[in-house]
Amino acid sequence: MSQPFDNILGTIGNTPIVKISRLAPPGVELYVKLEAFNPMGSVKDRLAIGVIEDAERSGRLQPGQTVVEATSGNTGIGLAMVCAQKGYPLVVTMAENFSVERRKMMRFLGAKVILTPADQMGTGMLAKAVELAEAHGWFLCRQFENEANADIHSRTTAPEILDSFRGKRLDFWVTGFGTGGTLKGVSRVLKAERPETQIVVCEPDNSQLLSSGIPQERAPDGSPSASHPSFRPHQMHGWSPDFIPKLTGDVVSAELIDQIVPVKGADALSCSRELAQKEGIFTGISGGATFAGALRVCAEAPEGSTVLCMLPDTGERYLSTPLFEDVFNEMSIEEIEISRSTPSFRFDVVPESAQEDEPAAPVTEAARRFVAETIGDAGQPVVMFALEWCEFCWSVRKLFAKCGIQYRSVDIDSAELKKDDWGGQIRSALIERTDFKTIPQIFVGGELIGGCTDLFDAFRQGQVQQLMRDKGIGFDEKVSLDPYELLPAWLHPRQ
Ligand code: PMP
Repeated sequence: MSQPFDNILGTIGNTPIVKISRLAPPGVELYVKLEAFNPMGSVKDRLAIGVIEDAERSGRLQPGQTVVEATSGNTGIGLAMVCAQKGYPLVVTMAENFSVERRKMMRFLGAKVILTPADQMGTGMLAKAVELAEAHGWFLCRQFENEANADIHSRTTAPEILDSFRGKRLDFWVTGFGTGGTLKGVSRVLKAERPETQIVVCEPDNSQLLSSGIPQERAPDGSPSASHPSFRPHQMHGWSPDFIPKLTGDVVSAELIDQIVPVKGADALSCSRELAQKEGIFTGISGGATFAGALRVCAEAPEGSTVLCMLPDTGERYLSTPLFEDVFNEMSIEEIEISRSTPSFRFDVVPESAQEDEPAAPVTEAARRFVAETIGDAGQPVVMFALEWCEFCWSVRKLFAKCGIQYRSVDIDSAELKKDDWGGQIRSALIERTDFKTIPQIFVGGELIGGCTDLFDAFRQGQVQQLMRDKGIGFDEKVSLDPYELLPAWLHPRQ
């Protein structure tokens, strides 16, 4: 890690293996492989570079061609990183019930995310990706069937494990399956190089596709032609889709799996929390689930065994899911007690003296003229005197944007207005004129509306809209919203 990397893609893989100290039962050595150390925080970064570079080599992906894939999130995030770095546009299809953090991350990385209805499950989002690829000539990654997915794990994940345990025991390797890329790629190498290592696969206890023994119906290309009859919705994001993927099916057919462990949803969540709170290891729901499976293995393993458990991603991706259900934004009773245990900076005590105001800039003739001309400018009748990064000002900007209102923002703290404290002079001239000390101040057609909440109140009552109509100022009449929703939650007036 000491050499600078040519680009971010060089940092994929080589994830650490860490010993569990407090949660492992006595007599067994338990290790976890932390895939969250990949640049976008999940095991799927490996698949992303594996699939894209394989398609480049084979010529199936041409420079500038759009890449499309169906993904519950982590694959999309990994692909978004790889495509951003290599300059391919990316379109991702995703069922609407996967966590919103993932969508936002992909969009932040420049990808387009097409949502599909939750009740049409994994097969729905897959069918949509196929349809889009065919209609537009895009490159479809086919993560569930693409051998490049398994190959990258045989080339990277598996040798990393072999290196870490060279000359040491490795009795059990525990994983779940989403595509089965990790499972197929690692298990075939371990079986060849470390035949004594047992391959343990976990699946949700209410959705046991593998243990059912019922084969998956497939199209000739290996993709599923129907949902698996044993599938039930479960909460392990990224695990067991509603079919047995081709890559997973291959491992079953090759009889590489030694044991299948069912895992309860509640155990997945509690193991993820325990790993965070007792080991300082932050992993997602499937990581908690695999760990729960690994603890089962440990409980039954002979004394002196060594167990390695895959942790596929970071817990940060699940803030909006049941994993964080018991974690609140507001202070708990215990936290309020801690706050009250010392005298200052409390919500229930008003500070004795408000801080001294900064000395005001002098009111100059030039600033008076500027303020008068700006407010009276018929060409730009909506004006806000603002601070660049003030949350109230941003909320006003959001309201104007949503309503299609053109406006001028005079940002008195901006770098442009710094010279000779011109911004300060404008502020002083404004206060002299309006006798109103706070910023922002909003004017419509020369009339002072007031600050952010004055504007919001007037908007709620329709007064702003009426004033704009009276003054002939255009805006989108169809928009109906409560502007207070635009304020960040911590600025909502206290109840
Ligand atoms: N956990 C999570 C959170 C995932 O996103 C995935 C990939 N879908 C997996 C586990 C399983 O990995 P694989 O696709 O290699 O089986």
